[in-house]
Amino acid sequence: MDFQRRGVMLVIASPSGAGKSSISRALFGADPSIRLSVSVTTRARRTDEVEGKHYFFIDVPTFERMRADGELLESAEVHGNFYGTPRAKVEEQLAAGNDILFDIDYQGTLQLYEKCRPDMVTVFILPPSIKELRARLERRAQDSVGSIEKRLKNARIEMDHYKEYDYVIVNEDLEVSTQRVRSILASARLKRERQVNLDSFVKSLQSQIDSP
Ligand code: 5GP
Repeated sequence: MDFQRRGVMLVIASPSGAGKSSISRALFGADPSIRLSVSVTTRARRTDEVEGKHYFFIDVPTFERMRADGELLESAEVHGNFYGTPRAKVEEQLAAGNDILFDIDYQGTLQLYEKCRPDMVTVFILPPSIKELRARLERRAQDSVGSIEKRLKNARIEMDHYKEYDYVIVNEDLEVSTQRVRSILASARLKRERQVNLDSFVKSLQSQIDSP
């Protein structure tokens, strides 16, 4: 019996600097059935970012055209830049039984809830303290001081939305938090609705009882 399943849309959200990217990388690196949803963004590329791996970097007119043509499953303005999830790959990967990891904000999560709730499992990551959050943002040092302050203010707003997520993890230790997300994903994969050929499997078990 070939046990097929539909993929999980795993959304991991957090204020910037709470550890979401590190957790995502750790999950992704260790599990070949996880795909990353690569967003489009109008933000400038950081020096360590690779086109098509971290984001597809596009200009505002291209973003507006994609949004108008329905090519984005969700989209939002975050920290003054536009971001969006290209629709095409998502359905294809889910049907192939691959899980898709989304690093999107609460606005995007709410839009996906309206369209794809049964496929989704959502996790909100909190920092252990604001001191730690600020230290992580400063260590990262990819952003100017002004931008760090903007991200801290945004963190406050983002944290208002923790109740909209299925699971919440306070990220004190990267390994422990990653293991927790792995457990959440492992349970989600076993949901009855995602095991697409259970019906025929159960019927075949029953038929073996009926005619041994
Ligand atoms: P960054 O600029 O640091 O890469 O991302 C800033 C914020 O934008 C993060 O909170 C990230 O989750 C969010 N983000 C990235 N891609 C998308 C997307 O496609 N849609 C939405 N709604 N948010 C996104």
